[in-house]
Amino acid sequence: MAPHSKNTPESPVDIEAEERRGLLNTGDEELERDDWTYKGKENPDEPQTWSQRKIAMIALVVIGLLITDHANVVSYNGTDLFRRTVIVVSIDGLRADYLDRGLTPHLLNISKKGLRAKSMKPIFPMLTGLFAESHGMVANNFWDPVSKDEFRYNQVSCVWNPSWWFGEPVRSSHGGVTTANLMWPGPPKTRTGGTSTYFVPWKDKVPLGEKLDQILKWIDLPVDKRPQLILAYEPSLDQAGHATGPNSKRVNDTLVKVDTFAKDLHSSLAARNLTDIVDIVFVSDHGMTDTSHPEPIWMDDILGEEGISAIAHEDGWPSMGLRFHNNANVTKYLDKLTLASEKNPEKFHVYTHKTMPERYHFANNPRIAPIYVVPEIGYILTTHAEGDTGMSKGNHGYDNEEFSMHAMFVAHGPFSVQAKVQHQRRSQDAHLAARANDGWHSTSNDAYIMKTFKNVEIYNLVMKLLDISVYSSQNNGTVGFWDQYL
Ligand SMILES: [Zn+2]
Repeated sequence: MAPHSKNTPESPVDIEAEERRGLLNTGDEELERDDWTYKGKENPDEPQTWSQRKIAMIALVVIGLLITDHANVVSYNGTDLFRRTVIVVSIDGLRADYLDRGLTPHLLNISKKGLRAKSMKPIFPMLTGLFAESHGMVANNFWDPVSKDEFRYNQVSCVWNPSWWFGEPVRSSHGGVTTANLMWPGPPKTRTGGTSTYFVPWKDKVPLGEKLDQILKWIDLPVDKRPQLILAYEPSLDQAGHATGPNSKRVNDTLVKVDTFAKDLHSSLAARNLTDIVDIVFVSDHGMTDTSHPEPIWMDDILGEEGISAIAHEDGWPSMGLRFHNNANVTKYLDKLTLASEKNPEKFHVYTHKTMPERYHFANNPRIAPIYVVPEIGYILTTHAEGDTGMSKGNHGYDNEEFSMHAMFVAHGPFSVQAKVQHQRRSQDAHLAARANDGWHSTSNDAYIMKTFKNVEIYNLVMKLLDISVYSSQNNGTVGFWDQYL
């Protein structure tokens, strides 16, 4: 997610504090459901010998293959049955080229055994899965003209209220898939009543080791209780990026911790003989750019004091969505802003729903303010009253074409095996050879690197890996995008 916000208290500590509070600090854990923890196997004293157990399992696999439909195909790891299983780990704010810093040997190692993408292009301005105009999360803080209410990302009353969220995530009713949510942003229940089977709500500063333990407890559940889809979310790298900037020691130190977590998760799966059964996908939602020495764009110089006081609601950061009071001369202020941006096109742009670049997919929702001021990287929008100091040292939400905004994608498991086999088969097939490299940035035995793709494709990847595409909700992914790999 994207806990970025303007640091009005003018202290770098405050934005960090707000980041720390995060999007969903529930204060205490009374909101936690108590059914997510692993309570052990059902019959721990069951006196079965290894061979009895093994024979029974193999028999079950065969029966399972005979009687289950495609979506419930089961595999056997030597000790237990496994349905198709996907673990998605979202590392907030892991910029694509962080992987080139020499600090993530384990993620790169996993990507060499599996594959990775050159980068993932995030949606503008933030979040994953759907374009902002579709999922309705148009900024961390924004005004909704329909409900006449303000959404604030760090208030539990907002974040847990499903009416704010238009998207429909993968959930239990999708083909009977058991799902687990480990602090992934969003409400416990969707607008249509969907829930995940296991739900661990957001809590800040949870050590990665605890998150690993929770994932493994889920993986070690009996097959009828085990989640087939585990979504886990980690915010520390985004928090570090905002607090001290993408080139800081704190970011590098956090990156090393995240990389160690990736290694531990991968090796825990390997120890369970699951690397060919469980798909693991590491993604991030966006990158991070240095904003420690921004050039200010003074909105009060452009609009005048009268114009500033005519603003009724101001959404987003670093972009600024503007709603003026009903009696304000909006045309006059739009003209002033447009003129100023035309004089300084390298600094910022001004858009209405009609002129918003189509590639942003950021117009078709009444929640998007009618006038949007979008700064270029290196610039911030502010007023003399707010000043230009004490802002966060790093930020995202800028033009998603900028590479520093791009996110990472590393995958390992049956998906990567299949993608490589498909590539090799095409390369050898005279009819398909010309298209063998479609979708690949580069391919060799040492590394398979996919071309940059949009993060809105991830939803369909998960649905495809679980073989439940038939249950897909409406989404902004490209129809057939994954056919070139799967
Ligand atoms: Zn952020």
